[in-house]
Amino acid sequence: MTRSVTILGATGSVGRSTLDLIGRNRDDYEIVALTARKDIDGLIELAGKFRPRQAVIGDPAHFARLREALAGTGVEAATGEEAITEAAGAGADWTMAAIVGTAGLRPVMRALEGGGTLALANKEALVAAGDLVTRAAAEGGATILPVDSEHNAVFQCFDRERPESVRRIILTASGGPFRARSIEEMRRATPAEAVAHPNWSMGAKISVDSATLMNKGLELIEAYHLFPLRADQLEVVVHPQSVVHSLVEYKDGSVLAQLGAPDMRVPIAHTLAWPARMATPCARLDLVAIARLDFEAPDLDRFPALALARAALAEGGAKPAILNAANEIGVQSFLESRIGFLDIASLVGEVLASHAPGAPSSLDEVLEIDREARRAATAAIGKFLH
Ligand code: NDP
Ligand code: MG
Repeated sequence: MTRSVTILGATGSVGRSTLDLIGRNRDDYEIVALTARKDIDGLIELAGKFRPRQAVIGDPAHFARLREALAGTGVEAATGEEAITEAAGAGADWTMAAIVGTAGLRPVMRALEGGGTLALANKEALVAAGDLVTRAAAEGGATILPVDSEHNAVFQCFDRERPESVRRIILTASGGPFRARSIEEMRRATPAEAVAHPNWSMGAKISVDSATLMNKGLELIEAYHLFPLRADQLEVVVHPQSVVHSLVEYKDGSVLAQLGAPDMRVPIAHTLAWPARMATPCARLDLVAIARLDFEAPDLDRFPALALARAALAEGGAKPAILNAANEIGVQSFLESRIGFLDIASLVGEVLASHAPGAPSSLDEVLEIDREARRAATAAIGKFLH
C-alpha cells in the first residue's frame, strides 16, 4: 500500500535525509508536496527526482524559475508562506515538519488540524507553542512522532500506557564542538568552528544551538510537551560519543535506552515506518569498536543557555516563546559575524529578563510574542556589535 507524504523543509538536512530513505523505497510512497524557502536549485532538483504533486518555494522571487523548470512535468509550482501552510494541510497520511524555527509553526498547526501523522523535527514550534501544538494534535486526531534523536529515543523506551511508572527522562547531549573549550576560547569562536559538529551533520542553526547547548535547553522544553512528566523529571547528561540517544528511568530502577549510530536517518526511519520497522543503509553499531561510553554533568557556567531554557520552562507562559525567538535572532546575528558566540546567550538572557507578556492562548498571540521578542532582540543587539 502506498502512503502519501509531504516534506516541509525538503531542501534541508532533515528533509534530504527523509527523501534519501523514501528514494530507497520509492514504490511505497506518493509525494504530495515538497517545500523550501529559497534554495531554488535544490527544490527543482528534488521535484525532478521525486515528482511530487506540488513544489512550493517560500520566497516569491524564485517563483518564475520554479514554474519554468517544472513546466510540462506535471508538478504544480506554488509560492509564498501561505502556500507552504496550505501544502501542510493538503491531507498527506504522513508529514515531515523539518522547517527550521518558528517559521514552521503555522504549517505544523495546519498539518495537525488535518489529522494523520506528523513527524516533528521542528522543535522550535513545540518550544514556542507546546500547549497549542499538543492540543491541535488531540483535536485533529493527529499523531505526533518525535524525530529529534533524543525524543525519538525516549519515545521508543517510554511506556505510554503507564506514565506513572517513569521516574525521569535523561536526555543526552554531545556537548558540541566547544565541550572542552575555555570561556576565553569560546569568546573568540567563529561561525565556522561553531557549525563544525563533532558527531552530527546538521543545518547551521541547530549546529550553533548544539555549540551553546541551547539545543539541549530547547529539547528539555520539547520533552516536557511530548511526554507526560514534570519539568523536574527531565535531566541532561553530556555524552560525547552520541551513541546513547537518551534514557528513560523507571521507578523500579530499570533504565531503558535507545542506542545507534549518530545518523538522523535512524530516527527518521522509525517515524516513517512506525509502528513497523524499515531497513536503512545506516552504519550498524559496533560496540567493540566504540569500546567506551563517557558521561559527564553539563557545565552551566560555560553554557548558560541551558540554564536559561530550564528557567523559561519553569516559568512557563510566554517565556519559552521569548527564549526561542531571541535565540533565533542571536544565532542569525552570530552566523553573520555581527555578535560573538557568548553574546548569543547574553542576548537571550536580556530579552527574557525585560519581557513578561501573559501566557498566549492562541496561535496569533504566540506569533505576536515571537515578533515582539525578535524586535526586542534586534534592538538589544547594538550593545553587542563588534
Ligand atoms: P536546515 O537549515 O538544513 O533546513 C531547513 C529547511 O527549512 C530548508 O528546507 C529551508 O529551506 C526551510 N526553511 C528555512 N526557513 C524557512 C522559512 N522561513 N519558511 C519556510 N521554509 C524555511 O535545517 P535542519 O534540517 O538541520 O533542521 C530542521 C529542523 O529539524 C530544525 O527545527 C532542527 O532543530 C530540527 N532538527 C534537526 C536535526 C538535524 O540533524 N539536522 C536533528 C534534530 C532536529 P531553504 O533550503 O530553501 O532555505
Ligand atoms: Mg536532538
